[in-house]
Amino acid sequence: MPELIAVHGDITRQDVDAIVNAANNAMRGGGGVDGAIHRAGGPDILRDCIARFPHGLATGDAGWTTAGRLPARWVIHTVGPNHTAGERDRSLLVSCYRRSLEVADELGAVSVAFPLISAGVYGWPKQDAVAAAVETVSATSTRVAEVRLVGFDERTYRDIRDAIRVLG
Ligand code: ADP
Repeated sequence: MPELIAVHGDITRQDVDAIVNAANNAMRGGGGVDGAIHRAGGPDILRDCIARFPHGLATGDAGWTTAGRLPARWVIHTVGPNHTAGERDRSLLVSCYRRSLEVADELGAVSVAFPLISAGVYGWPKQDAVAAAVETVSATSTRVAEVRLVGFDERTYRDIRDAIRVLG
């Protein structure tokens, strides 16, 4: 099981093997963390998305591209359920973390940073989004040694930190 670390800040600045993007089904960029990753990483990421995901990506699934000029080597894209639009199957959210770690294993990534998937525009209730992230990552068997859960705002960071502490 990976070591879990709460981090406060911008995921695009994380110096890890792979950062995870909360993408959408189209896989052609978007707002929130998706927009930030494409802006910071440059156009190679979108080019790779078009080449590798001509038909986009299913909700709950994950796949990788180059990280362009980001410090990370890869971006692992995953598509969380859109709670606001009525997608409320929690197993899809759990699947995002599991599938992303499987992709990380395929790549040989040993350090991975995740944003809080579905907790922004997709409207998943914050406390449950934190619980799903922490529970799933800590229960997944993977060769990834370090997982950083990145809280963009102070409040989210504290929630993540506290949830990790409870695990002991
Ligand atoms: P989704 O559509 O899956 O809800 P969002 O990008 O809207 O994705 O939000 C997911 C989470 O990522 C939210 O908690 C949001 O605050 C956070 N976030 C937004 N920008 C960044 C960033 N640059 N680094 C880390 N987290 C971010």
